[in-house]
Amino acid sequence: MQAAAAVPQRRSIPRGQLLINGRWCDASSGETMPTFDPTTEEKIAEVAKGSAADVDQAVAAASRAFEEGPWGRMHLEARAKLLFKIADLLDERADDFAIREAMDMGMPYRDFRDTIMPHCSGLFRFFSGLAMQISGGYRQSYEPEIRIFTRREPLGVVAAITPFNFPLALTCSKVAPALAAGNTVVHKPASDTPLTALALAQVMLDAGVPEGVYNLVTGPGSTLGDALVKHPLVDKVAFTGSTAVGQNIIRNGADTLKHTTMELGGKSPNIVFADANIEAAVQTAFWAIFWNKGEVCVAGSRLIVERPIYDEVVDRLAKMAENAILGDPLLPETQVGPIASKAEYDKVLRYVEAGKESKARLVAGGNTRRVNGKGLFIEPTVFGGATNDIKISREEIFGPVLPVIPFETEEEAIRIANDTPYGLASGIQTGSMARALRIADKIKAGTVWLNMWHKYHPSAPFGGYKMSGYGREQGPEALESYTQYKTVWANLA
Ligand code: NAP
Repeated sequence: MQAAAAVPQRRSIPRGQLLINGRWCDASSGETMPTFDPTTEEKIAEVAKGSAADVDQAVAAASRAFEEGPWGRMHLEARAKLLFKIADLLDERADDFAIREAMDMGMPYRDFRDTIMPHCSGLFRFFSGLAMQISGGYRQSYEPEIRIFTRREPLGVVAAITPFNFPLALTCSKVAPALAAGNTVVHKPASDTPLTALALAQVMLDAGVPEGVYNLVTGPGSTLGDALVKHPLVDKVAFTGSTAVGQNIIRNGADTLKHTTMELGGKSPNIVFADANIEAAVQTAFWAIFWNKGEVCVAGSRLIVERPIYDEVVDRLAKMAENAILGDPLLPETQVGPIASKAEYDKVLRYVEAGKESKARLVAGGNTRRVNGKGLFIEPTVFGGATNDIKISREEIFGPVLPVIPFETEEEAIRIANDTPYGLASGIQTGSMARALRIADKIKAGTVWLNMWHKYHPSAPFGGYKMSGYGREQGPEALESYTQYKTVWANLA
């Protein structure tokens, strides 16, 4: 008989500092801020509470490293090797990253190790390969003695600003292409979940990334983040977060004409047709919304079901919701962890109340839970009889709440799917691939999953339509957005 694998344990995390110019340091004010474990509701650690003065230092270091340091001039192969080293260190330290993410964000340890961690190291390997291919080309000229060629050059200093959910993955999806293209980076993680950012910065040091090339600043978005966005020496802001903060960043970056990429909110439709394999479609629909307790930008947060199978789908979802295992994200059996922070927990509960007060019918969940007397748990919550015009169908809840909306015809399903300000992801569950592909053409969203959900690959571009943002992460398209073209004209006469 095989011995059961040891259950990973919470660990003490030392006080988090800023990484500026290759050295760990406290915030210049000496201030710190706490980060909490949503399972135990206890403080995990204090982390430096940086300010505009620290941003100045970090950006100056990144700018110096870009202008004077070896990074941009480093042979592409050497840079690519370094990115590979980062990937290897991430894999070696997967356990530590998974424990940090479980403690800080409440993501089940097993899900993180099995899916997120390989994706993070894969991003560095993918972009290390692409770094070797950065190239330019010759262009046409009117005069034979004039030769024109293009070079792709890095932008300069990239500010990577990331949200509280999937903190490591969404940092790697910015940092890997930014570094591969020869930029330097200042990373600002979300204040609620900074623990993997600290461990990633240590990986950068241990991999031998030259000083100043990678900097980490922690502190409030409203002050430190604001200073970073407005800093004249920052060339690009790569942002993932809410649409409202993204809009603010675009406004604040306008004076210094920042390059921006915006990965914003979503309200993604999942259409289930009566000819789908119902068992598979219900499984897909369930995890499309409840994976990582719904704290997922691409969560399938509006389920649109063809009338003949509507009642059966709602019943099956309700049973799955009742049987889902809520618990400590470090335990292997846990399927649904706690909501990442008290503010998010309160916000999600307000939406649960809005659902109860709407014309929709609560068929599962709708309650908070305590596990061993503690924790910010909310039951997977399903509302039947929903329509697309109620609050819980229109606004991004970012939690484990699913309105299920019936439809009669294919045209109606497409209309409902597109009737949202967002356009991040979507899904179609059907037995007819011809129908799936026909509808995929008409859905206004950056990702369309056919008979599946939550699949990602470093080579597959990811990003939003409409209010879900612009620009793409992953794929060669991402590398493009971290470079700019220079056209060189040579007069041979
Ligand atoms: P958020 O409130 O917009 O915060 C995102 C980041 O921006 C945090 O680091 C935050 O810092 C910082 N920030 C806040 N105000 C700022 C300002 N004025 N200037 C500069 N930075 C500022 O988002 P969140 O609640 O962390 O994350 C959830 C949202 O992200 C959801 O809307 C979700 O859909 C979206 N999201 C999108 C994707 C995607 O790929 N499209 C992926 C994941 C999440 P503090 O934490 O210190 O406030």
